[in-house]
Amino acid sequence: MKPERDNITLIGSGLTGPLLAISLAQRGFPVQLYERRPDMRRVRISAGRSINLALSTRGIHALREAGLWGELANILIPMRGRMMHSVTGELTFMPYGKDETEFINSVSRAELNISLMNAAEKAGVRIRFNERCSGFDLRSGVVHLRNEDTGAEWVVDSKVVIGADGATSAVRTEMLKLPRFNFSQQYLDYGYKELTIPAATDGRHVFETHALHIWPRGTFMLIALPNIDGTFGCILFLPFEGGDISCEALDSEAKVLSFFEVQFPDALRLMPNLIENYFGNPTGVMVTVKCSPWHVDGKALLLGDAAHAIVPFFGQGMNCAFEDCTYFLELLDRYGSDWPVLFSAFEKVRKADTDAIADLAIENFVEMRDSVADPRFLFRKKVELELEKKYPGRFVPKYAMVTFHRTPYSVAAQRGAVQDRMLGELCDSVQRLEDIDWRKAEALVQQKLTPLPGV
Ligand SMILES: Cc1cc2nc3c(=O)[nH]c(=O)nc-3n(C[C@H](O)[C@H](O)[C@H](O)COP(=O)(O)OP(=O)(O)OC[C@H]3O[C@@H](n4cnc5c(N)ncnc54)[C@H](O)[C@@H]3O)c2cc1C
Repeated sequence: MKPERDNITLIGSGLTGPLLAISLAQRGFPVQLYERRPDMRRVRISAGRSINLALSTRGIHALREAGLWGELANILIPMRGRMMHSVTGELTFMPYGKDETEFINSVSRAELNISLMNAAEKAGVRIRFNERCSGFDLRSGVVHLRNEDTGAEWVVDSKVVIGADGATSAVRTEMLKLPRFNFSQQYLDYGYKELTIPAATDGRHVFETHALHIWPRGTFMLIALPNIDGTFGCILFLPFEGGDISCEALDSEAKVLSFFEVQFPDALRLMPNLIENYFGNPTGVMVTVKCSPWHVDGKALLLGDAAHAIVPFFGQGMNCAFEDCTYFLELLDRYGSDWPVLFSAFEKVRKADTDAIADLAIENFVEMRDSVADPRFLFRKKVELELEKKYPGRFVPKYAMVTFHRTPYSVAAQRGAVQDRMLGELCDSVQRLEDIDWRKAEALVQQKLTPLPGV
């Protein structure tokens, strides 16, 4: 039996809470998880934001370390590249990686959440649902909870509180009261709608299974990720306001249908539930949150979206949050339960990287909704892959550093910027791979890029 002082209270049983809880329980810490929603294994509820997510190397590494990777294989679909859909229905495939070993995985948020919660309970973690954290006493560390069914209010006292309660974190809200607490939240001017494309009558996917489908249209886009049941989970990203194409403007069935007829005719044919989905689902918001410190003495720590919510366009929010667990656990194994030292070391090692991926995710929004339809951009991507083949471990595309390696995000951002300038110099005045000045490429790579550690 562990001493009382090692009790850990985790707020939020979304994606990160149960993953961290498993590893803490494996190390012998008694962990209690409190979640404001009902138990999604028993009550049919919306799994939360977005239907399915792209899981890649950082997330996989953390899941593997917790011993969960093997059991998740049957809920994943590999996506080997982006499939771009033009207005006239032409398809262009752009691989994500340099070869078949580099791909990302589509996973249903609900399925993953359920697997994580099952594994947490198996590891001895108690999850209490319908319990909303309504406050947190910064001095004593006591957490205030309110039962969402009965309204009953009660408190939990533990040695340590970890806020894994997402982008609107209640634990972080309390921390706003701290002197010199830095906080910024930046909402995107875009909202999103979750939509679905059902399976074909034979149960198969109606588009290529192993791809992330994108309908890039400049100021808006539709994306679709495959689910294991043959359906696609789609997300339509639109400006909130302004013009004829915005959440505000598309306010009737007729307008939505005619918008889809003009912009996404190939998808519309396969979306019998479009109107029901569009008007039945709420409009999602996307926010970047930066704050510091992430901790209050040794009493409380923010982790995942609670500490650093990012917009979804690099497919990294969950992967980054899972990577938080990797770093946290490495430090826990080094410092033991010296919480003040551990929390402050954790923030120190993570903050620059989470700031970097927040900025990269915003940049990638423009790439996804606009640049991927531009032949110049596709040409640069080809040259990038060629450079990677010629200079393995030295020229590694930014996307690969972020998605297929565990290169610290801040390093990926810095090297990515150097490589972008290099690509500009090599590609701007030529149209074909054969016309690239490969001698100049060689000189630039040797001069500007050192070997990338860990690749
Ligand atoms: C449209 C969209 C698409 C995305 N796609 C991707 C992707 O492809 N790949 C990727 O890596 N990431 C993606 N993300 C980001 C990803 O969803 C988040 O980064 C991830 O869910 C963060 O995990 P978390 O555990 O920190 O927070 P969450 O998963 O949000 O979990 C927080 C939990 O805390 C609970 N909670 C909140 N407040 C309280 C309270 N007061 N008391 C008790 N419980 C509370 C919530 O109910 C929730 O269960 C996407 C996000 C969006 C919006």
